[in-house]
Parts: sequence; structure tokens; C-alpha cells
Amino acid sequence: MKRTIIFVTCALCLVACNNKPKEIQYNVDRFYDLEVLRYDVPDFDQLTLQQKTLIYYLTEAALQGRDILYDQNCRYNLAIRRTLESIYCNYPDKQDEQYLLMEKYLKRVWFSNGIHHHYSEDKFLPEFSEEWFRSAWQYADKQQTQLSDSDLETLIPVMFDPAVLNKKVNQASGVDLLLTSACNYYQDVTQAEAEAYYKAHRDNSAEPLWNGLNAQLVKRNGVLEERTYKVGGLYSDALEKVVYWLEKAKGVAENEQQQSVIQKLIDFNLTGDLKTFNEYAIAWVKDLDSRVDFVNGFTEVYGDPLGITGAWESMVNFKNLEATKRTKCLADNAQWFEDNSPTDPAYKKGEVKGVSAKVINAAILGGDCYPSTPIGINLPNANWIRKEYGSKSVTIENITDAYAKAAEGNGFNEEFMYSEEEVKLYRKYGVLTDNCHTDLHECLGHGSGKLLAGVTKDDLKEHGSTIEEARADLFGLYYIADPKMVELGILPNKEAYKAEYYKQMMNGAMTQLVRIEPGKDIEEAHMRNRQLIANWVLEHCDEENPEVEWVRKDGKLYLRVNDYEGLRKLYGQLLAIIQQVTSTGDYDMAKELVETYAVKVDPKVHREVLERYQKLDLAPYKGFVNPVYTPVTDVAGNITDIKIDYTEGYAEQHLRYSRDYSPLPTFN
Ligand code: ZN
Repeated sequence: MKRTIIFVTCALCLVACNNKPKEIQYNVDRFYDLEVLRYDVPDFDQLTLQQKTLIYYLTEAALQGRDILYDQNCRYNLAIRRTLESIYCNYPDKQDEQYLLMEKYLKRVWFSNGIHHHYSEDKFLPEFSEEWFRSAWQYADKQQTQLSDSDLETLIPVMFDPAVLNKKVNQASGVDLLLTSACNYYQDVTQAEAEAYYKAHRDNSAEPLWNGLNAQLVKRNGVLEERTYKVGGLYSDALEKVVYWLEKAKGVAENEQQQSVIQKLIDFNLTGDLKTFNEYAIAWVKDLDSRVDFVNGFTEVYGDPLGITGAWESMVNFKNLEATKRTKCLADNAQWFEDNSPTDPAYKKGEVKGVSAKVINAAILGGDCYPSTPIGINLPNANWIRKEYGSKSVTIENITDAYAKAAEGNGFNEEFMYSEEEVKLYRKYGVLTDNCHTDLHECLGHGSGKLLAGVTKDDLKEHGSTIEEARADLFGLYYIADPKMVELGILPNKEAYKAEYYKQMMNGAMTQLVRIEPGKDIEEAHMRNRQLIANWVLEHCDEENPEVEWVRKDGKLYLRVNDYEGLRKLYGQLLAIIQQVTSTGDYDMAKELVETYAVKVDPKVHREVLERYQKLDLAPYKGFVNPVYTPVTDVAGNITDIKIDYTEGYAEQHLRYSRDYSPLPTFN
């Protein structure tokens, strides 16, 4: 189903537009529970040639790391992707039913950067038969895939046996999280061994190195050994290319600070030295004046069951000047928010440092940000750097815009919101309050509060991510309803926040379940956090006059918010609890909160939500295709402009990336 075509000004269109408006097709492809969208890059044409060129070089560096994430997600992913792509291109009968099922599976592999669902972490199984795959194997170019016939027997169970490598990141209590996870951050290492190893290597100095951030831990001849991600180490072929494009980018950097950021990142890729990484992260936090910015490297640790090693990701972006006024206003008032939060004064930061917030337009998404991407980022992750130097927080406005445009009129809110009143409220304020909540979450929430002496971010172990996300969400929820938001001119009136309150409760307790298969638990940290908040609130509502309650209307289940101010008080209470858990590193309390409210799903609610959702025929997960950037050169080879094009299709894009940006060997 293709919908929502809008017009943009001709300045953005580059393919022979003849001054006519160009259509951007926002809805690109649809398969399984996934939908592929396109995003617009507004204001790219207003950048200087130097900024455009810088973006172009950085996008090349972003694409060169694509293979790394595939291999990090599972060691067989590159072999499977290459085999399928080769069959996809060479198989003679493109109408064969089995072939079409393979195409669908391959699209899913592209979407997930591997064979496990990008969100549920479960392995998805092919719908085509093993028998067909065995016969199609002959069409896979063995030179291109770097595989021999004997590899077929290795790949078959990995793809077809539901019991083999069935979970990318296991977070279930009571089992060995490493031996039961398919991700490739550890090989032949037990959880106890890895934990002991990293405990022994933990840096307790004032400026600690993040040991393990850029390494795979393996056991060879009974000895644990780190394989460092660097030029000359693991993933060398990809990192060499990244460095090549970073060198080019350095040559057109906007200023000296940005130049030194890029140089530090180059040095880190060359040496793998974590002290250099800290220096890079600090230089990056300090680079506030540049219009163009980027993330490129081993960053978020959600993909590692122990939360130590970073998944490779990249995002190139530039400041959205108009919208940045909004977040700057929040950042300028960061201390006020810290001082007035409902948490125990012992857990507050005396002085909130350098919270810098901006709204950006993404120019390219790469690695763990592609095709599925976050709508806000807050980095760096090292707590001591955040404390000493602050952090950079971004809201990615062109991505949230694309979601909103693609979702216009899809009937979702009408189906799940209690009445026309909530639907209207959300229609009126929803985009603004969603963005505003993201701003609060990213630029104030994650940066708020402090850990007591001796407490580290690792103390909450497997529940750390869920608790941290809940903390940031609750901070945003508590403050979006504060009169201060109207006073600062961020929200237009005292009603608007209700749109966000209703949506968060509905989503956390109900509608996010459309992403979960019947009978399954919630695994992903952000989803756990949202259910934790909603279910805790529901359980702590006033018995006589509940602030929020379940109601049935015309046979359908809804949430009804009776008292928005009361709901805000509950959010404040839970924020105080979650902040205490974080500040004191209270693992037992974190575990109890997560296990009581965040993991298990009410099967009756779940079944009904799925049934109603199915009738709407929507995809619960979205991802994106990137625009294509092409340099225009003069006869001497100098770049005179960078063209941006929005017409590349989904399969087309992935095949091109696999052809032009696939430097790694099949097995690493
Ligand atoms: Zn967050």
C-alpha cells in the first residue's frame, strides 16, 4: 500500500526537475511486520559547498562500516546475506514461488542486518524450503560469497533449525547469557568467564577506559583473548576504508575543533587505543559550533548481553537551526530542571554541566542506525565524560517528520484512543509533544541525577538499560506537564501535554504489544521501560478515584485518563524511585521492578490488541532508505556540488551497498 505523497520545493529535487516540485515517495516497501520509508533532508541545498562536501565524505565513511554490524550480530550473517544476494541476482526464474519467498526473507535480513529480528532479537525462519535452498545454492557465485560447497551444511541449520542460534541477545534470568545469545561479541566464552575477565580489567581510575568497548572476547586454547576492532585487527578491511574517508573529511572540516575530532577518531581506528577514544569523545562533546556533525564507530551496547561492547553505527547530520532554538532553551535551563525534580536531593547534580541539545536533520543512516533508526541520540555513553564535560543530545526531526507523514490517516489512533477527544488532542499537539518529550528525554533526562560514590553504571547489570531508559522517559513525562514548559514558550498551553500523557499510557500498557508475538515476553529495553512505567502507574492508582483505568466501550478495551494532574504525581513518584535505584546501584530493586512490571504480557490484552491491530493492516516497525549523494565535478576533478537524490528503491539500495561498500571477508 502506498500513500502520503507530498510536494517539496524544487530546491531539494535534483533529477531534472525543471523548477517543478518534486514528489517524494515516503512509503517505499512493505513486508512482514516491517515498512520501509523514505526521509527528506530539508535545507541540504542551503549548506555551503564545503559543508556539503564534508557530509558527502562522512556518508561514505558511514556506509563502509555496514558489514561490521552484520558480523557483530551473528558470525554467519555475512555468509547468509552474500549467498542470498547472489541467488537473488542469478536465479533464472524470478517468478518461482520459492524464489519470491526467498526475496521476502532477504528483505528481512537487510532490515535486521542479519537473521534475527531487529527488535525482538528472535531468529526468523525462511518460508522457502530447505530443499529449494539446496538446489538454488548452485546459483550462488562462490567467488563472490567466498564460500565453498562444504559451507552449505554449516549454513543450513543456522538458517532453518529453530533451535540453533535462536536468540540474538538473550536477557532471560537464570541461564548463561553468552552461551544462549547468537551475537558475536564473544566466542566460546561463558558469562562467568567474561564477567570475571572484565571485572579484572575494570579501570577504576578517575578517567576510566571503557575496556571491552571495541573488542571481541574469545577463548583460544583455554585462554581468554581480546580481538580488538582496529586497522590491523578485527574488521581491519572496513576500518581502513572508514579511515580513508575520514581523512578526506578532515580536509574539509568546518573548523579546527571539528578537525581534531576527526583526527582523534582516525587515530582510534588505527590504534584501538581506548585513551584516544576518550580524547575523541571529549573533543566531540566540545565541538558545538559546527553545523555538520556525525557519529561513526562502536557506540551503543544494547546488542551485547553484558552491555560492554559497542555495535558499529553511524549517522551524519546537520543542525536544524530553527528547531534548535527549542532544545537550546531547555538546555539553558538545565539547572532549574535538575533542582526542581521530585528526586531525593542526595541524587541530584549540584552543577549540571554542558548539556548541549540540538535538533538535527539526518543526512545518512549507517550500521546500527540503519534501516531502523532512533529518533533521538544522547552521547557519549561514558558517565565520567558526561559528568566532567557534558553530553550532546539530539532530536532527529526529519526522521520524526517522516514517521508522521507516513502515518497520516492510518486509523491507528481512532482504533485505540478512548474517544474523539483524545484523538483530536493528539492530532492537534501530538507531533509537537512527541518531539518535546524526546528533547526532554535526551537532553535533560539522561544527563540528570548522579551516582553515589562507588556506584557504577554496571551495577544494575542486565536491567541497567531498562532502568536508564525509564529514568529518562519519566524525567520527560514529569516535566512536559510542568507550567515551566508554557512559560518557556515550548508548549502553547496547559492542555498540550495531555496528548503525550495519553499516548504514553496507551502505548506502554497496550499498543506497543503489537510488536510482540503471542506468548512472548518483552525483551527490548525501551519497550520494557514503557511497560514498566505504564503498569506501575496502573497498579498505584487511587482505588476510589483512579487517575487512569481500563474501561470497556462497545465491547472494546481502552485506557481512560481521569486525572492528568494525578497522573503527573504518579510519574513523579516513580521517577524518584527509579533515580534512587540508579544512584545507589540497587540491583535487587531494579530486578524486582523490571520483573514485576516490564517483562510479562497480559495475554488477554495482548490478544485483543493484536486482533484490532491486524484489521488496520499496518506494519509495527519502520525503517528507511537513505538518499543518494553524488558529487558533481569540473574538468579538473574538483567537486563543484553534491547532488542528492530520493528515488533509489529498497532492494536496489541494499544490492548497491553490498556491491560498493562490502570490504569484509565473509568470516572474520
Ligand atoms: Zn534514551
